[in-house]
Amino acid sequence: MNRDSDFKACATVKALLKCAAVHLSRAGISTPELDAELLMMHQLGVDRTGLFMVQRDPVSQDVLAGFQALVQRRCGREPLAYITESTGFWDLDLDVKPGVLVPRPDTETLIEAALEVLPAATEKQRRLVDLGTGSGAIALSMASASPGHLVFATDRSPLALDVARSNARKNGLQENLFFVCGLWLSPFSRKAPSFDMVLSNPPYIPTKDIDVLEPEVSVFEPRLALDGDEDGLRDYRAIVGECMYHLKPGGWLLFEMGWDQKEAVREILDDSRLFEEISHINDYAGNNRVVRARRKRW
Ligand code: GLN
Repeated sequence: MNRDSDFKACATVKALLKCAAVHLSRAGISTPELDAELLMMHQLGVDRTGLFMVQRDPVSQDVLAGFQALVQRRCGREPLAYITESTGFWDLDLDVKPGVLVPRPDTETLIEAALEVLPAATEKQRRLVDLGTGSGAIALSMASASPGHLVFATDRSPLALDVARSNARKNGLQENLFFVCGLWLSPFSRKAPSFDMVLSNPPYIPTKDIDVLEPEVSVFEPRLALDGDEDGLRDYRAIVGECMYHLKPGGWLLFEMGWDQKEAVREILDDSRLFEEISHINDYAGNNRVVRARRKRW
């Protein structure tokens, strides 16, 4: 092993970062310097400014051993967010752990698209529901960005709901937030539609495509949150079907979806004959990512 990649030969934080970047790059990580920095910030418990200040400091045996273990996990392609146990989404700091999907920046497109059509709660308090909430990213962002509405969040995984609840506490967003265990809209009464807005980032990857994704996703993230069955569309069909009983006339349905699923999801919406004002919104990378549709009033 050459000196550049030998952790023990590193006298300073700066040298250790460089060495870690070499290892991470060899493991196929596309942002090795950034990942090394974020892991070091986590190890030292400092922010970016703090990291800058200690660049020339010597490293203790404990820091060296701890950091090396973190780098090894990342070299095994474990998602950074699972190692640091947190990630940023919208204006929130969310805890994540294996068993919940790591929130992606792409999903912020869904929040923006929802806010465009959601009047402030001062005008009228609405009932929103986030289906398959995982870490709570969508439900908590909506509660944070447009406070005062009633926001429900469902997930069939009790572990995910625990994470989402704890994220609500951590971000001071417990008021008007309700977590319910169950599949999609099944926990709610079908007697009369009660929601003004249904939001979801359901699993949408065709089963056979999962194993060819990056190992961060295919090996470490929960299949339950990724696998949309043979064609990736199972859960769009299920949720659209349930909207009949749960989404009020004039209410909005918003889905995240795969970049190549625009036509297929549109067909599901059209076939239901339930929706109008259907529009598609691209994510920051320019890929088709969100569909927004309004339930007809008649
Ligand atoms: N956006 C995720 C990915 O591409 C998929 C999330 C999902 O299936 N809802 O890995």
